[in-house]
Amino acid sequence: MTEKQGGSDVRANTTVASALGAGGAGAEYELLGHKWFCSAPMSDMFLVLAQTEEGLSCFLMPRILPDGSRNAFHIQRLKDKLGNHSNASSEIELHNAWGRMIGEPGRGVPTIIEMVGHTRLDCVIGSAAGMRAAVVAATHHAAHRSAFGRTLIDQPLMANVLADLCVESEAATALAMRLARAYDEAHADAAAGEDASDAQLFKRLATAVGKYWSCKRAPNHAYEALECLGGAGYVEESGMPASIARPRWPRSGRARAT
Ligand SMILES: Cc1cc2nc3c(=O)[nH]c(=O)nc-3n(C[C@H](O)[C@H](O)[C@H](O)COP(=O)(O)OP(=O)(O)OC[C@H]3O[C@@H](n4cnc5c(N)ncnc54)[C@H](O)[C@@H]3O)c2cc1C
Repeated sequence: MTEKQGGSDVRANTTVASALGAGGAGAEYELLGHKWFCSAPMSDMFLVLAQTEEGLSCFLMPRILPDGSRNAFHIQRLKDKLGNHSNASSEIELHNAWGRMIGEPGRGVPTIIEMVGHTRLDCVIGSAAGMRAAVVAATHHAAHRSAFGRTLIDQPLMANVLADLCVESEAATALAMRLARAYDEAHADAAAGEDASDAQLFKRLATAVGKYWSCKRAPNHAYEALECLGGAGYVEESGMPASIARPRWPRSGRARAT
């Protein structure tokens, strides 16, 4: 989706798709353009937005063509990101890459949003999982570490902090489960021919809000949990730095080589 001139505003996309035949839903096209963000570039298939005469449309683009040759999909460079290092992101160019139109012509955004919605749900689940891991580490440490004559977990102020961490973790898990239920229900409703059921409307709004909130809270939750381990929480061995999306290695190539 994302191009230099517009990430949030994907309608500003300039990548173009030219029909190899009559064109239309399910037809073959050639894609020409640049994408400023393309995560997981090692994937076998990509969903790509490109302009057609009917407007922005969605295309399924394989990395390898059916005859075994490489599609005209070129990685310009990998992004050097703040975190999220286990998921590579790249900048790519499409030099008349082969793709097949998915969904209706001009309906690219609603088509690709089906995939984006699931990715957002995954972000909510991943954030809830990270919070749960942080709570496990913090409560375990506090249950075994003694300071000033009592275990940390029995110190009133520490108990407050741990309770806050637990409540937020539980809330994030409940939100993720409730959202996942809405996905199941919305899918069943769609199969029954509905397109504006309660579950479908809830899913549409709650996915975006839930992703925003859980992802926004996850780093704050992680650093609060990290502090419960004292100095050890700041040390990579504890696992806590990784949970606030820090790379597990320094950024320089020299250090990585070691
Ligand atoms: C780790 C990572 C992986 C990514 N992977 C992919 C990928 O695989 N595929 C892909 O297509 N994209 C990917 N992206 C890109 C991401 O989708 C875009 O960065 C995002 O859509 C924002 O677009 P932008 O960077 O152009 O920012 P802009 O659209 O320029 O926005 C900049 C800021 O302005 C705010 N803003 C925008 N519009 C308004 C408005 N109307 N009112 C008020 N504020 C506004 C935004 O919220 C943001 O804070 C990835 C990004 C990251 C960080």
